[in-house]
Amino acid sequence: MAHQDYNLWQLIQMEACTKCRLCADVCPAVSASQDGHLSGVYRIKGLKEVLRKRSGLLTRLFGRKQISSEALDQFSETVFRCTLCGNCQEICPVGIHLKVLWLSIRQDLVNSGSYPEKVDLIRENLLESHNVFNEENEERADWVEDMDEPPDHGFIKEQAEVVYFTGCVASYFPLAQKIPINLSSIFEAAEVDFTLLGEAEWCCGFPLLGSGQKGLMPQFIEHNIDAVRQKKASKVVCACPTCYQMWREFYHAEFEIVHSTEFLYRLVKEGRLPLKELNLTVTYHDPCDLGRGARIFDEPREVLKAIPGVNFIELEANRENCRCCGGGGNLEMIDSGLSEEIAKQKIDEIMETGAQAVVTACQQCVRTMTTYVRRNQISLEVLDITELVYRALDS
Ligand code: SF4
Ligand code: SF4
Repeated sequence: MAHQDYNLWQLIQMEACTKCRLCADVCPAVSASQDGHLSGVYRIKGLKEVLRKRSGLLTRLFGRKQISSEALDQFSETVFRCTLCGNCQEICPVGIHLKVLWLSIRQDLVNSGSYPEKVDLIRENLLESHNVFNEENEERADWVEDMDEPPDHGFIKEQAEVVYFTGCVASYFPLAQKIPINLSSIFEAAEVDFTLLGEAEWCCGFPLLGSGQKGLMPQFIEHNIDAVRQKKASKVVCACPTCYQMWREFYHAEFEIVHSTEFLYRLVKEGRLPLKELNLTVTYHDPCDLGRGARIFDEPREVLKAIPGVNFIELEANRENCRCCGGGGNLEMIDSGLSEEIAKQKIDEIMETGAQAVVTACQQCVRTMTTYVRRNQISLEVLDITELVYRALDS
């Protein structure tokens, strides 16, 4: 492992850990697995030990034994079994930036050659096809053909004010394709001047960041910025909270970056979305990257409240304390069983509210929760907020 994967501030912050274990209490991976080795407090302890063994004074003076590759692999297994939900960071009383630290450890482990095989697959897929599923990138906007009345231009225009950056999951995964279909229909109804990038859209780069391969991100970032510039757009709208965070934090481009929930709320306030009554009791799941990550809590709730007849109930753990659905941090690719167990706990919590539907604002949350309820024949609708708004559109 290499110290250069951590900045000085991280090395100082690690020393501030008081071992209070609050991070373990709120960790969905710990509660779903009942394995304390997956907690933040254990991870910090393990990291300190590894760094000490590698570069401590005794090691340098007397050649004390370095950490074995078996021990490093064991540590690595715990590090990658994490959804990067950020719940630990939210609760840490001494303010350690844990989520960023987890990313640095993953990068360090990849540089040290101790990582799950799936990491190689993520890299190969992205470099070969520019999407995480290794599908043909020319097929990114094929979902348009599934619309009732697809427009002749297929939503790919030469220029537009808004670029709707669709993201890999919503572009290719059938369970999530309703999101771009519904959002495009809403944009049409509200007369938003928008375009897709189609095959010119590449993955936002998060799978590389999340799998410890940050060094490969720039080519994706530069490509996507250039593709948006060619459309002469001033805004980029993302319905995916992770793409949204990538654009906001890593792209440093001149465009306004807007999440679909913010955009929908603007349209509602401007009176551009006449909404009819829906009789439905719903609860809302805050996607980790949108809520804790980008602090967007109010806009989705305001949109829900703007739909007449919608009875909204909060989950017990809501807003910044919302529990992860199990779909983040590439966990599904690394340990699908753990991801499913976290989803189970989430669905159990939702069912306690008595809501008929859980609404969220993320294609990965939709995909994870829908897969669980279908597999287990649970009577609960899982809806992205775009689907609910589309249903309520008074055409
Ligand atoms: S980011 Fe989430 S899953 Fe990972 S250690 Fe923190 S609380 Fe647990
Ligand atoms: S919550 Fe923060 S201080 Fe407490 S054990 Fe976890 S990392 Fe350490």
